[in-house]
Amino acid sequence: MSDELDSVRRSVISCTRCDLSKTRTNAVPGSGNAQTDVIFIGEAPGRNEDLQGEPFVGTAGKILSEALEYAGFVRKDIYITNIVKCRPPNNRRPNKQEIDTCSIYLQKELEIIRPKIICILGNTAYGSLLDGSAITKNRGKVIKRNNHLYFVTVHPAAIIYNPALRQVIKDDLKTLHAILDKIKKGTQIQINE
Ligand code: SF4
Repeated sequence: MSDELDSVRRSVISCTRCDLSKTRTNAVPGSGNAQTDVIFIGEAPGRNEDLQGEPFVGTAGKILSEALEYAGFVRKDIYITNIVKCRPPNNRRPNKQEIDTCSIYLQKELEIIRPKIICILGNTAYGSLLDGSAITKNRGKVIKRNNHLYFVTVHPAAIIYNPALRQVIKDDLKTLHAILDKIKKGTQIQINE
């Protein structure tokens, strides 16, 4: 991890900028390779993440790891984070104030890593980053916004309640892997503005 990312990590761990700091066990900074071409962004830490202080280490994390491997990504080579770094009580969705307050950390992560593409996991991250209400229309597609390329897929936790989505996230990440290959080779890709 780079010195700059390590500094963000330390700021997150000691952060008390919003009330989620009062109920968390551990803040959960992003984790992974600072040199990555792709960042995966989820909603917020869950119970296991809160206990361990690491993102995507519970059941949803296992599903994500499986899908990454299926698609040809190596988990240690990419970077995974959330729009909100502390667990909301009872896994409720983070509210707008919490998302806005925590956004400074995600912005720093994006500025430092400067990924070629950002993979949005699920509706909450989609709503926060692209102001969308539901991912259905743009799932599996690339969207360009503010000079960033985004790819949209389901949140791995959704598979716990809807097992049919397991193959959907696997196929989406495979599509993302192919898109990233094209971007790196300078080949044209289809972009939805
Ligand atoms: S959720 Fe974000 S802003 Fe709120 S305390 Fe945790 S790190 Fe700080």
